[in-house]
Amino acid sequence: MSKVNEVEIQKQYIEKVKEMNKGKKLKYTILTMGCQLNENDSEKLSGMVEQMGYTKTENAEEADLALFNTCCVRENAEDKLFGKVGELKRIKEKRGTIIAIGGCMMQEKHITDKLHESYPYIDIIFGTHTLHKFPEDLYISIKEKNKIDDIINIDGEIYENLPIKRDSKIKASVTIMYGCNNFCSYCIVPYVRGRERSRKPEDILKEVKELAQNGYKEITLLGQNVNSYDGGEINKNGKTIKYKFANLLRDVNNIEGIERIRFVSPHPKDFTDDVIEAIRDCDKVCKLIHLPLQSGSTNMLKIMNRKYTKEQYLELVRKMKEQIPNLVLSTDIIVGFAGETEDDFEETLDVVRKVKFEQVYMFIYSRRVGTLGDKMENQIPEEIKHKRFDRLKELVESQIEENNKKYIGTIQKVLVEGTSKNNPNMLTGRTGSNKVVVFEGSKDLVDTIIELKIVSEHMWYLKGKI
Ligand code: SF4
Repeated sequence: MSKVNEVEIQKQYIEKVKEMNKGKKLKYTILTMGCQLNENDSEKLSGMVEQMGYTKTENAEEADLALFNTCCVRENAEDKLFGKVGELKRIKEKRGTIIAIGGCMMQEKHITDKLHESYPYIDIIFGTHTLHKFPEDLYISIKEKNKIDDIINIDGEIYENLPIKRDSKIKASVTIMYGCNNFCSYCIVPYVRGRERSRKPEDILKEVKELAQNGYKEITLLGQNVNSYDGGEINKNGKTIKYKFANLLRDVNNIEGIERIRFVSPHPKDFTDDVIEAIRDCDKVCKLIHLPLQSGSTNMLKIMNRKYTKEQYLELVRKMKEQIPNLVLSTDIIVGFAGETEDDFEETLDVVRKVKFEQVYMFIYSRRVGTLGDKMENQIPEEIKHKRFDRLKELVESQIEENNKKYIGTIQKVLVEGTSKNNPNMLTGRTGSNKVVVFEGSKDLVDTIIELKIVSEHMWYLKGKI
């Protein structure tokens, strides 16, 4: 069956479920775990579900459909899922809520086995490669009262033109590729998301153009490994070229109406010169680049299968800073991967001291069933992991404190996201370098980009003035 036909079939199921739900004023709730790719998948699920006649509620007590979009990167996500599904049993008994669980965790057999055994009241389980079929799964579940297991282990096709309900009116995520070929030894993603598949350039550019026409100003290009994007061979100005990530950045940069472009996550090993030049040349590409380090020790990087050394990483940073004015970097670091010695950890601290990252996302290593890291014998005791984490945190925080001072007195362009969670009288937004800025202003400013003067700095946010 062609991909277009498959999407059309799902649209027919959307109509069938909508018909069944007519006049019932049904509500759905959705819990999303994990990364921005999962958030983008949840926007697609929400798009389909809303077309089927459900309206969103944050209150699970009044939900007729409860959706979970799971992530399996961190261990505590499993406990969170089981806890939430347990809580739903009572609500299901009261109002017949349909419970559907999808996403990465459902590609792990030990998880689905546990769900079948301990939570038999779940109605639909679907994996990462069958998300587009949710309307059909829901239809069968309602119509035939069957339990649905819709999980396949082959790499899913890319389906275009599925409905989508975006969370924001000004910033949007656009997935450009799916899957990963890298098999870093700590990571479960290649096992649950399959091999790399890139969307066609014309489909991505069409989506971004439509977003621009609808008033969106900030676009984040998403993929597990964005800079190994492969758009295939295309004809450009009479020449056949291999269309890569750098081409995509330049083409998105040319789309009128878009003001900011971000991308996550690139891999240091694929950071080719053409990508660096595109970032330098494209005025809309934010000069905050996320460059996952994971460890500063060449020895650990080899064990982690990251395919670069400490020296290569530092050389890449040097080259990027030399070529891209005002570049700042953020990174991911895993502390306590199997076999990490005190010397290895010191190497990580050394890179952090040298690069002076704008932001560091720090993780304590947690074993993932099915990965090479889980099979390694020299696991680090939890106590040592936590002590190292605290030392890294202390260093990072002292750098952030120092770094934040450079913003005081500067004028920053801020995309206003909404009211501050901690103080409803204040608004909050983000600079191009992803710094949170809190300021006083009218709610009419939400979903606009404005200029603010930074007047003070705090550890996790800056204070601005219009
Ligand atoms: S590049 Fe490595 S860390 Fe990133 S998704 Fe692929 S395997 Fe996981």
